[in-house]
Amino acid sequence: PLPPQVFLQTVEQSPVAISITDPRANIIYANPAFERVTGYSADEVIGMNESILSNRATPRDVYDALWTSLMSLQAWSGTLVNRRKDGTPYLAELTIAPVVDRSGHIDYFVGIHRDVTELH
Ligand code: FAD
Repeated sequence: PLPPQVFLQTVEQSPVAISITDPRANIIYANPAFERVTGYSADEVIGMNESILSNRATPRDVYDALWTSLMSLQAWSGTLVNRRKDGTPYLAELTIAPVVDRSGHIDYFVGIHRDVTELH
């Protein structure tokens, strides 16, 4: 088996923004690409809800679909309008997935996103 360090090294150097949350979407980890994309340092976002990234323009239906999917242990992918720390909006192509234990209980969520503003 690979040493655990390999996984940390890989996530830390990933070019896509990766964050890990508790089951209530409070951030417990953010990688350097997340810091670059959002403008927040990991220290600033740890303990905050992922909703700090929302620019408050996405229809509620979208978030309802997101949470319905996650609660049924399905990954969700979509594009959300996010806001950086400096207030500038960006389009985030996002995938969120539950991380479960052996009995299917949700321990964490992982969020992976990239800024696709330029592509639109
Ligand atoms: P609401 O959706 O009203 O939620 C209020 C609180 O409850 C928040 O803490 C929310 O996270 C949580 N919540 C809502 N429904 C459930 C549920 N069924 N079970 C458990 N907790 C629930 N949103 C973005 O706008 N941009 C992002 O980049 C983004 N990334 C995310 C990454 C991850 C890994 C996760 C898990 C969520 C992400 N979200 C993101 C969704 C975010 O957590 C909010 O649900 C969303 O921003 C709506 O914000 P709100 O203030 O309207 O909160």
